[in-house]
Amino acid sequence: KSNRSEKQVLDGEASLNKETNEGQVEKTSKIVIGFSMDTLAEERWLRDRELFKEAVEDLGAEVKILASKGDDAQQILQAETLINEGIDILVIVPHNAESTAMIVKKAHASGIKVLSYDRLVRNSEIDLYISYDNEMVGELQAKAITKLVPKGNYVYIGGAETDYNAHLFKKGVFNILQPLIDKGDITIVYDQWTKDWIPEYALSNMEEALLANNNKVDAVISANDATAGKVIQALAKQGLAGKVPVAGQDADLAAAQRIVLGTQTMTVYKPLKELAGQAAELAVKLARGEEVEGERIINNGKAEVPSVLYSPIAVDKKNIDETIIADGFHTKQEVYGKK
Ligand code: BGC
Repeated sequence: KSNRSEKQVLDGEASLNKETNEGQVEKTSKIVIGFSMDTLAEERWLRDRELFKEAVEDLGAEVKILASKGDDAQQILQAETLINEGIDILVIVPHNAESTAMIVKKAHASGIKVLSYDRLVRNSEIDLYISYDNEMVGELQAKAITKLVPKGNYVYIGGAETDYNAHLFKKGVFNILQPLIDKGDITIVYDQWTKDWIPEYALSNMEEALLANNNKVDAVISANDATAGKVIQALAKQGLAGKVPVAGQDADLAAAQRIVLGTQTMTVYKPLKELAGQAAELAVKLARGEEVEGERIINNGKAEVPSVLYSPIAVDKKNIDETIIADGFHTKQEVYGKK
């Protein structure tokens, strides 16, 4: 393609210039970003993909996007492909927080920096991490539910154990629940991860939780809206939908509709536009070799990672209009249905 050869020429010029005039040369060619995604199964990731692409193109850069559908080996292969194609920076949503460290190593060996998007790559020298405060996500869920159900039997339907976010969500939930558990007010009657975040597993786990407790479940905290949807399906089968408070996360359209209907209590809204926009900006800066400072430092088990964390927002029936609808995340008509 003509773009490609133009880039090569410009790169050639840039490196020529660099030898004679060190430090003074700005790269004039178009920055190419590789975006290695995990899944596109949840609605949010499609939105992330679109918003990120839009933001990158607005900055005059280009993005190549590959998604690995929850397959670790595939994600590593795809990242290698992107690296070999000559990207300037890699942005990654890891499926597996640990095994993707290998990708970071490979990128670095080719002089490519890596930005961890939404999910943290653990035990690696990742260059930047941008996300929401995921511990706060869990705290918001548990605060909302304990307000309604200060005492009783709680079920926790977690996320994928291989996703570090799932650990952070859980930590946040238990920051709030533990004192109430210690007091004897709350009993955790079921607590399970959801393998690979696959909603069908959440369904069978919730069915198991109900069966094991003779339906004596007073509240459910579910790690995201896709799993919460299945939790509610299991509750509905027992005539309990709308009677047992359920928390989710992501502000998926189906969850927003369930909130209005009364079968889901709350969701945690993460306005993805700010995440995608900021990630695009920082990725371009990193690719240009500019200094990028995080607002805080997070240890990922190996490195002190400069990080940017946004605050998530609790959404229930009362504030749904002034949050996700006011933002245009979903339209009023989509959420409330046609008149
Ligand atoms: C994200 C959630 C998402 C989940 C499943 C998590 O890492 O933060 O927003 O629902 O992965 O894809």
